[in-house]
Amino acid sequence: MKASVVGGSMAGLFAALLLKRAGWQVRVYERIGADLSGRGAGIVTHRQLFDVLERAGITRGAAKMGVAVRGRQVLARDGALVGKLPLEQVLTSWGHLHALLRNALGDNSYHHGRTLERVVESDKVVAAHFADGAVAEADLLVGADGIFSTVRAQLLPDVRPNYAGYIAWRGLVDEADLSAATRDALCEHFSFSLPEGEQMLGYPVAGADEAPAVGARRFNFVWYRPATEGTLRDLLTDIDGVSHSLSIPPNRIRAEAIDGLRRDAHRLLAPQFAEVVQKTRQPFIQAILDLETPSMAVGRRTVLIGDAAFVARPHVGAGVTKAAADACALVEALETEADLECALKSFEARRLAVGRSIVDRARHLGAYMQAQIHTPEEKQAAERHRSPQAVMTETASMAFLEGTGSAINTNYPSSQKRRPRCRRCSIRSTCGD
Ligand SMILES: Cc1cc2nc3c(=O)[nH]c(=O)nc-3n(C[C@H](O)[C@H](O)[C@H](O)COP(=O)(O)OP(=O)(O)OC[C@H]3O[C@@H](n4cnc5c(N)ncnc54)[C@H](O)[C@@H]3O)c2cc1C
Repeated sequence: MKASVVGGSMAGLFAALLLKRAGWQVRVYERIGADLSGRGAGIVTHRQLFDVLERAGITRGAAKMGVAVRGRQVLARDGALVGKLPLEQVLTSWGHLHALLRNALGDNSYHHGRTLERVVESDKVVAAHFADGAVAEADLLVGADGIFSTVRAQLLPDVRPNYAGYIAWRGLVDEADLSAATRDALCEHFSFSLPEGEQMLGYPVAGADEAPAVGARRFNFVWYRPATEGTLRDLLTDIDGVSHSLSIPPNRIRAEAIDGLRRDAHRLLAPQFAEVVQKTRQPFIQAILDLETPSMAVGRRTVLIGDAAFVARPHVGAGVTKAAADACALVEALETEADLECALKSFEARRLAVGRSIVDRARHLGAYMQAQIHTPEEKQAAERHRSPQAVMTETASMAFLEGTGSAINTNYPSSQKRRPRCRRCSIRSTCGD
């Protein structure tokens, strides 16, 4: 069986590696012409991510994947400690993880500079048509092409990302550039500073050459700030006055926007975090968006995974883990069900609910940062997630999914016994026929 995977980032690479191990011939088509591994900033890891990495044949273990912190802390405006929570977690960088997956896949099945334009399904194959005129036929097409997915835009044109009313300023600074006092205060923890209606967080990640040694590492920050549509438009207007819609290349951000950010950092944040913002050479902006798809099996041979299907606000820290778990569930379904269409429906039945609950949870955690809160009830509900204790306990945690059957290893084959038989393909499934 042949699979075309559209998008060569996290979801695409996980899907490709797992499909290959399951015996599929796989081709990955990535729009960007250059290697992606040098890009990105910090990401949080969860146990599920290591489970899928192991299934994909990457067995380096958590300790070698990034930087382990001992716990969480909240700093007051004057820099004093206002709360502490022992909670070990491994933080890594997007580039490091991408390079691991990319090396594991090898070059032969990965095609750079291929932009998908449209998908055409027939009874026997699904054809991917690319901007350069090339066409690739396969049995299955995996749409792993991110939040602005071309596959989704064609097959579910009404499903679009919604702006949540706030942005994140993000950046990385070399630990060595920070003062000794700030390094000591921040760099062994997952730290927060909580100005009214905003949230700053930061944690250490490996250095640019992926060096995990103290001193050679970098400090990654994410500062959530309310922004009306007008403020967003202003921030996304570049150095030449050109307006960008939902993201802007970092080197096109106007100097006055970055100067304003630095001034606000000194006015609003704990001084340690203000120093981090001051010393970050190239901060970048991420508009916070929500995206929910009503279906992931979008054709008889076409499926959406990762950010192409669901994008949660970053507070759960689940983007990469969700992409990995989608890929894993897809390949489990393909290995279990005899019929491709049933497998896609069965995969969808498993992952739609998980995607929805992650988006929903992240929406609640971030509600107090939205520029517009509509009713007093909404405000009261939003406030529940604002205390230092709530922020430390709930941020970048997937504990809320425990017990919901969303874990990676859900004994998939044996659970078949409890399912009705599909009338068409006569195997036990959840395809609904
Ligand atoms: C370069 C890069 C850096 C990132 N850095 C971070 C980070 O530091 N921290 C973080 O939390 N998240 C980061 N993300 C986002 C993160 O990868 C996703 O939120 C999450 O992992 C889900 O991944 P995904 O593969 O579903 O989507 P994405 O990571 O968005 O990947 C989608 C891929 O599809 C490609 N693509 C889109 N349209 C087409 C098309 N028509 N034809 C072919 N290819 C197409 C894109 O170029 C992209 O590589 C980054 C994404 C990218 C692409």
